[in-house]
Amino acid sequence: MEYIFINPVVANMYVKEELDALLLNNGYTRIEVENDWHKIVKEKYTEALKLAGKPLLDRRCPLAIDTASKYVNKEEAIIPEIDPILIHCGIEIANREDLKGKKKVITTPCESLASYGNKKKLKDTVFISWKDFLKALNSQEKIQAKSLEASPIPPGYFNGLEAKITSISGEEAIKEHFENKLYKGSDLTEMLYCKNGCNNGDGVLLINEKK
Ligand code: SF4
Repeated sequence: MEYIFINPVVANMYVKEELDALLLNNGYTRIEVENDWHKIVKEKYTEALKLAGKPLLDRRCPLAIDTASKYVNKEEAIIPEIDPILIHCGIEIANREDLKGKKKVITTPCESLASYGNKKKLKDTVFISWKDFLKALNSQEKIQAKSLEASPIPPGYFNGLEAKITSISGEEAIKEHFENKLYKGSDLTEMLYCKNGCNNGDGVLLINEKK
């Protein structure tokens, strides 16, 4: 038996009971995190904003960071050492005493988060996009997936923080924002590579069959 964490995007695409049964029939027990990483990561950004002294960039999306990094003058902006929310979830699960020695799978909505997570080399823990996980599972049993119109964590994650925040999504918007140095006008730039968020990630798109 292996243990599997289903990210919120994928979780929202299925009826929970059907997905849990499919996983169990294929040797996976679904697990959840115990900490509220959505809240904790936001608190980390709040602290980073207090110390920054220059524009801060959202580091939750690896592809957004890769895109922005080509244009950013590192003297003029800060990319904080704060892992994406899903990576925090993976680290918690990898370190859980009750799962010590057991194999753990952390599903991601995109290849880039899987790659980011695997670079951490967490013990007995593998990050894999949902699309690749399903391919490897190659189950004869099929369940219905629904197309998601919105991400469970849509743009606007930082709303409410006391800072001037700009929110952008999509590759072109990110390029334009950074080519034109617009990040200099904000305390924090929220950025997601996939238009409108992770429901359009390359690790779930085929299942969503859209865009
Ligand atoms: S799914 Fe898209 S927006 Fe979400 S982290 Fe991955 S690349 Fe970024």
